[in-house]
Amino acid sequence: MSDLSRLCIHTETVKPLQIEEVAEKFAHHGIPGVSVWRQTLENRDPQKTGQILRDQGLEIVSLVRGGFFPSSDPGKRVAAIEENKRAIIEAVKLGASLLVLVCGSDPDQSPGISRTQIRDAIRILLPFAESQKIRLGIEPLHPMYADTRSAIITMKQANEIIGEMDSPFLGLVVDVYHTWWDENLEDEIKLAGKKGKIFAFHVSDWKVPTEDMLADRGLMGEGCIPIRQIRSWVEEAGFNGFIEVEIFSKKYWRLEQEVYLKMIIKAFEEFV
Ligand code: ZN
Repeated sequence: MSDLSRLCIHTETVKPLQIEEVAEKFAHHGIPGVSVWRQTLENRDPQKTGQILRDQGLEIVSLVRGGFFPSSDPGKRVAAIEENKRAIIEAVKLGASLLVLVCGSDPDQSPGISRTQIRDAIRILLPFAESQKIRLGIEPLHPMYADTRSAIITMKQANEIIGEMDSPFLGLVVDVYHTWWDENLEDEIKLAGKKGKIFAFHVSDWKVPTEDMLADRGLMGEGCIPIRQIRSWVEEAGFNGFIEVEIFSKKYWRLEQEVYLKMIIKAFEEFV
């Protein structure tokens, strides 16, 4: 029997499934963890949704995603903080202790200015997150998303902000898809681990060639990311939480999701 005790799958990975199907199918296949995307909660009561998942024995690892802080328009920056407060409340109701931050970027201004705005926003948001006992996880994204999705593109940039704020409620989300290319990856993982700041670990694979910047992520083992090596670094750095499968793929969303879940489990066993 294989060890799936640390396997978590994002709802976005199996986007065609309704949350009731997620609960039932994950339980049936022995998948113990789920990270819930906010889209999944649209027009749903987060508290009841959390209960549906817990009733099947699932642990809700995180709510994905908050962030998108920077804008050249000050009104939009204020609105973004309010939206993130709503996300934090949603996490509380859902029963997730971590909100993943995709920090955002505005192509109308330099990434440096966007990063300053991200810092400012997190500084404002953090006391609210602390009051609600929700941890915030900064996820650096691959530089190909630096235009609109994240001005934080390296582990170093994330670690710097986390170091400045020095709160037990602010840490790092390491995603192999976004960080595998970084020559400082091992050192930055060590640094974050020393301070107990690795909050989450996401896996998928980088397909060669990648045909769609957003929705052509590979199953583990299908691409060029040294997933096992990176996993060993985060574990040596003290991380022993869930390993979260986060794959956006038009190709896999078209499959029968039951078949796809079996493929995910096989890839997890063989390549993670
Ligand atoms: Zn991720």
